[in-house]
Amino acid sequence: MSDITTNFDDRIVEYEQLLSDFKALLKSNSLKFTIQREVILETLYDSDEHLTPESLHNLIQEKFPDLNIGIATVYRTLSLLEDSNMVTSLYFGAQGKKYELGAKNHHDHLICTNCGCITEFVDEQIEERQDKIANELGFKMQDHSMQIYGICKNCRN
Ligand SMILES: [Zn+2]
Ligand SMILES: [Zn+2]
Repeated sequence: MSDITTNFDDRIVEYEQLLSDFKALLKSNSLKFTIQREVILETLYDSDEHLTPESLHNLIQEKFPDLNIGIATVYRTLSLLEDSNMVTSLYFGAQGKKYELGAKNHHDHLICTNCGCITEFVDEQIEERQDKIANELGFKMQDHSMQIYGICKNCRN
């Protein structure tokens, strides 16, 4: 089933780790590990996009047309993953939330509140400043997220 992950040796390890964390998470919530739930995790992993529950559901249906999976399962699984910090959600105004796996490389986000598009960026100076601020305040930083809200280039034109 993992046709993409087999191309990248280092990603196989990552996915296997993710999968075993996911299985443990399901078990601790007394939920069964099902093919539907596995496909949700795998599709999130294979996608570079920030996905709404609906767009994730559509992707799964395109990829696995014979799999019977309800949108409610997608919602429930995403909130379970979010509660355990395995996925991160980004608000983009009244339209709702988009999700991505926490296992991706660190980056920050520009979020358009008009069309919902999300641009990722990494700025070393910002990263360093944040480390410095946390250090100076005696704070042990574990993670951070930065979301900048506004109107994207396309929507401004
Ligand atoms: Zn926009
Ligand atoms: Zn992102």
